[in-house]
Amino acid sequence: MLQQTRVETVIPYYKRWLQRFPSMETLAEAREEDVLLTWQGLGYYARARRLLWAARAVREEHGGSLPSSAAELQELPGVGEYTAGAVASMAFGEAVPAVDGNVRRVLARLYDLPSPAPAELRKLARGLVDPDRPGDFNQALMELGATVCQPRSPLCPSCPLQELCLARARDTVKERPARKTPRPVPQVEVAVVVALQVSGGSDGAGSEEGGEVVEEAAPAPLFFLSQRSGSGLLEGMWEFPGTEVGSGEGARNAALRLAGELGLHVVGEPRELDLVTHLFSHLKVRYRPFLFQVGGSGQDERGEWLELENLGRVPLSVAQLKIAEVTRKVVQDGWPGL
Ligand code: SF4
Repeated sequence: MLQQTRVETVIPYYKRWLQRFPSMETLAEAREEDVLLTWQGLGYYARARRLLWAARAVREEHGGSLPSSAAELQELPGVGEYTAGAVASMAFGEAVPAVDGNVRRVLARLYDLPSPAPAELRKLARGLVDPDRPGDFNQALMELGATVCQPRSPLCPSCPLQELCLARARDTVKERPARKTPRPVPQVEVAVVVALQVSGGSDGAGSEEGGEVVEEAAPAPLFFLSQRSGSGLLEGMWEFPGTEVGSGEGARNAALRLAGELGLHVVGEPRELDLVTHLFSHLKVRYRPFLFQVGGSGQDERGEWLELENLGRVPLSVAQLKIAEVTRKVVQDGWPGL
């Protein structure tokens, strides 16, 4: 949960997660959709799915107990060299390194290395790990990087390693490790079909019961959502269907094209909703949502029609929650005569 995410953000998710999945066994038995729903809002959903697969692998291949060596841990889905080293050293006392971003910075400065390769750093760290207290050693190095050997303002005068630090001696601290030039983030535009159905249930006119006319509530509008398949970003999550806008196509045309592909019986003109932008780790997406009123049930078998209030029944990414929010505003304002 802490990968790319701040501790304060993670704490409520972590507590909720442990309440829902208090053991490896409960996680291994969970449905993927429940796992994604519990993770909802944290982003990088591949992490949640891999955690589930890892729990299943532990149950099926290790009799339900987490393996204790870094080598075996690394065989589990989603566990790389750093996580395996951290768990094996801290939980099981194996003398292996755990090189995260903080440790990388400390070592690069300690040895005055401009751009050390990961293998080089692991080799250095392996030679330093205290065989008697490997977990404490790894945590201390991470903590030193996080609190003292900070990226921009290292607190060298209070650093316990100042006498050993080559970068400090050579006055190269600020250049170590060399910063990578950030690559420009590509941007895509996605037209989104927010299909709304007001059919079914009562016509709102009321019915007669024992001679008395009883007002019946108008049926709540239903919105069409589908589940993402394949193995890409947000696999398994639910969404208002979207399609990348082709060059020269225009967002409205793309949305109309997708509504046709979905077999929706569109009534009238779609209304454009507010733009929603979302920055993924490697991609910026501009969502152009269009609200369509549709008649009948044009859904395909992958989709579900849900009330806005019930969207919490399926896992939605933060971007989709933003689209639901701009939709809610328009529906509350009474479009189209709801
Ligand atoms: S002396 Fe400064 S640069 Fe060197 S390890 Fe300590 S905080 Fe980092």
